[in-house]
Amino acid sequence: MLVTVDCLRADHCGFYGYSRPTTPFLDALASESLVVPAAIVAGAPTYYSFPTIFASRMPLALGRDVVGLAPGETTLATVLRESGYATGAFSAANPYLSPRFGYDQGFEAFRDFLDFEAQAAQDTVSPQTLPGDSARGKLNRAISRAARALGLGRLYSELYFQYCMKIAPAAVSLDALRRYPAADILVDQAQSWLASIGQRPFFLWLHLMDPHAPYYPPNEAFRELTGRDIEPGHARYLNEYWNRSDLTPSGLRGKRNQVVQLYDAGIRWVDRQIGRLVQSLRQTNLWDDCVLALTADHGEEFLEHGGRFHAPVRLTEEIVRVPLLIRVPGTRGMKVPASPMSHLHLAPTLLDILGVRAPSAFRGRSLWANLQHGIAWDDPAIIECGYGCTNPFRAASRSAARLLGVRDARFKLVMRIESGAVEELYDLGNDPAELRPSVDGLPPETRKRLVLAAREHMERTVSGRDAAMLLRARLRDLRCEILGRIKTLNH
Ligand SMILES: [Zn+2]
Repeated sequence: MLVTVDCLRADHCGFYGYSRPTTPFLDALASESLVVPAAIVAGAPTYYSFPTIFASRMPLALGRDVVGLAPGETTLATVLRESGYATGAFSAANPYLSPRFGYDQGFEAFRDFLDFEAQAAQDTVSPQTLPGDSARGKLNRAISRAARALGLGRLYSELYFQYCMKIAPAAVSLDALRRYPAADILVDQAQSWLASIGQRPFFLWLHLMDPHAPYYPPNEAFRELTGRDIEPGHARYLNEYWNRSDLTPSGLRGKRNQVVQLYDAGIRWVDRQIGRLVQSLRQTNLWDDCVLALTADHGEEFLEHGGRFHAPVRLTEEIVRVPLLIRVPGTRGMKVPASPMSHLHLAPTLLDILGVRAPSAFRGRSLWANLQHGIAWDDPAIIECGYGCTNPFRAASRSAARLLGVRDARFKLVMRIESGAVEELYDLGNDPAELRPSVDGLPPETRKRLVLAAREHMERTVSGRDAAMLLRARLRDLRCEILGRIKTLNH
């Protein structure tokens, strides 16, 4: 069973030392599981991270044009299905994890809940969307321009935001405001599916979106975490405030802690629902044989380096370091090495645990023996994405400069590969908050070693490119584009 939680940072989980009680169930489970101290994503956000989790290959291995999995690509799900497993996926309305991007491959049952998102999106109210192109909107833009010309832009933005909040329809409930189905809905469906497959071995994938922005946790989870209720109107106010593009980090900082509480309550809800799922597996005696891996596709920023959410413009730890808990029946209390474990190795490791042979297409290798016997490994984790690509549907956005990170147990090199390349080197040992990017003052051989790893990675990418797979992915994208245009014409 694979549980992926969107936007879940490792350092916001109790079993990684977080001070708030976000994960009481998983903390208890962690004591009988392997907890990887430094699990590192291969890319961020979702569309750069998941190809590696499922297909054990780097996100840009097929070229920057390909988003998601290619048609016919071998994945954890296709391998397990061929090995006789019943395969079921329940993914909480993340459009980048849909059949459009190949994520249904290998699953007998696949539910992506995207109809849920379409319905809820209408409930969103924001200063950007409210007045639209109406006469009021045009008037507003004219006043905005005049205010800025008079040097009153900030005052105007503040007043306008407050005005939008005032005229927004009353927020009825957190459930109505939520953009994604909450974890309980997915767990209910997963339980029905499990009840339908009889005694077959199963591979269940759950992708939960509760900690993803906008942050609208169930009130129950908020109360469990803070001892108070959250009023829907206030939750909306905080989310809309946090989403403002007119504020600098210092203008946002005053609301940071309250926003983090909402995010944390989303984690608490995930924890509780995983607990409920495990409880039902116990009742049906399936838990005794169940391997569970829990991880995230990337983390989330809360102004640590000035940013919010998870745009691929930085590869700081709050974005790239995720939880990785692996529960294998019969193993407990093992000391896992502090070596960074790239998601590249996750699928082969899980197959090894299950006794299923990894396909040759997988680029990672099993670290199961290392994890079991506490043997460190020294290959660094590579992270890559298109710099600033927040909309992979746009070709120009996809072809942005490559942002490449190389992280070993202590150092991290981050490079933006373009003319006049930007490069930063962090010493995570002495500067865990990554406040002092420094190339000077660190041993030159450190930089050399990491640069060499980056170069080898780039060479492998070019020499290992699968032309047939690339072609299939391009044809799929072309078909989707044409169908999309026909649909627009018909409307
Ligand atoms: Zn994501």
